[in-house]
Amino acid sequence: MKKGKLIYEGKAKRVYETEDKDLFIQEFKDDATAFDATKRGTIRDKGIINNKISKILFDLLESKGIETHFVEQLDDRQMLIKRVEIIPLEVTMRNTVAGGMARLLNLKEGLVLSEPVLEYHYKDDSLHDPLINDYHALALGMATGEELEFIKKQSFKINDILKSFFEHKNLILVDFKLEFGRHKGKILLADEISPDTCRLWDKETQKKLDKDRFRRDLGGVEDAYQEVLKRMTA
Ligand code: UDP
Repeated sequence: MKKGKLIYEGKAKRVYETEDKDLFIQEFKDDATAFDATKRGTIRDKGIINNKISKILFDLLESKGIETHFVEQLDDRQMLIKRVEIIPLEVTMRNTVAGGMARLLNLKEGLVLSEPVLEYHYKDDSLHDPLINDYHALALGMATGEELEFIKKQSFKINDILKSFFEHKNLILVDFKLEFGRHKGKILLADEISPDTCRLWDKETQKKLDKDRFRRDLGGVEDAYQEVLKRMTA
């Protein structure tokens, strides 16, 4: 598939057109940012690892009936994806309290939630991705009621699948972020699923094996990403 024009460059990825108007190429970079891009750095080989991890997780989800934008892996850093119109909502699913939820409600990180929590954040860095609810999303025309119902149903299903997958790899899926997009009348899971977008803790030691090592300067960032991939493919 020939790479065409660069149509989007984000913090961790680039998206290119292809000769097929319905397909894009998503390229994973080593660049890392945190705190609305006020902290910047690179994580060696992160792009290669996140491409592989996302491929494995999209395949897993597809095998369980979740439709995603993933088509195929092209090489180390690139995957072919279906073109979608991204819905400007970041869906956060939480199983254990951490990060934003710990801050918002002054809770201790590590508190296990009695049931999963779904949050919508409006995707806008200049506003720091503010927490909103489905009434905001609906009233501001970000998505229709039917779309929101579908996104909600898919997000809980995805959480069940991923949580149990990672549990078998001795990893706790603390929380993660999803993005969805419209493609030919359907809502597909889009973006990526990787240690950039998930919090993953070792089941025995609670060691953080995700982007928090970069955000919080904990060291061993590259090793943590490699460890997640190693466990996933073991
Ligand atoms: N997350 C993400 N992109 C964002 C914000 C959050 O992928 O722009 C992920 C993050 O890695 C974590 C989950 O979403 O797994 C919940 O993040 P939270 O809302 O706690 O925000 P943070 O503490 O990172 O500010």
